Amino acid sequence: MEKREFKAESKRLLDLMINSIYTNKEIFLRELISNASDAIDKYYYKALTDSDINFNKEDFFINISIDKENRELTIKDTGIGMTREELEDNLGIIARSGSFNFKNENDKKEDIDIIGQFGVGFYSAFMVSDSVKVKTKALGENEAFLWKSSGAEGYTIESTTKEKIGTEIVLKIKESTEDEDYDEFLDEYTIKALIKRYSDFIRYPIKMMITKQ
Ligand code: ADP
Ligand code: MG
Repeated sequence: MEKREFKAESKRLLDLMINSIYTNKEIFLRELISNASDAIDKYYYKALTDSDINFNKEDFFINISIDKENRELTIKDTGIGMTREELEDNLGIIARSGSFNFKNENDKKEDIDIIGQFGVGFYSAFMVSDSVKVKTKALGENEAFLWKSSGAEGYTIESTTKEKIGTEIVLKIKESTEDEDYDEFLDEYTIKALIKRYSDFIRYPIKMMITKQ
């Protein structure tokens, strides 16, 4: 198992997410669903142009499941997955898309505007989670990997087993406090409403599974 620290820039974004006073924390779901959809797009286009890859359109979907008892929200996709290097590059370092720039580091208000305006990406998961696990298997690879992080301390990557190609992201949802309700992110109807509000345009089916208590 490899233990790694986040790159400095990522650490700052992560700190911002963990200590976020941003009121629309719910946008984390939009971010994770959009990543899932992007990953499926990549697989889909690859499959269209590579006759060696067999696929059915029905094979591409996003699955969201709630396990209330264990406080877990899981977003699973049948996308292209990530190799070990990609895990390292994509989740260890802030996305290179440049959507997030720390020009006004000490200006909280500015930060909040940035969160609202742009895609803040994967790290937004830490606004609602104590820890995040990413299990993934890339197209063309036999080995699967598990990326784990509880935030600022860094992350680990280890080998794991996963049958299908794609990515599964498990969020351990924070405990609610007097000031903040996180239980809503384990509520089926809230999650359905968030999908409707933010991800209605996603072109792959979004399925839902609830683990009964
Ligand atoms: P962005 O989507 O703007 O690139 P993110 O922070 O949302 O930034 O994601 C960073 C990168 O991590 C993505 O560009 C992608 O390469 C990778 N990634 C994130 N989620 C997934 C996923 N579900 N499947 C495959 N790759 C992913
Ligand atoms: Mg993204």
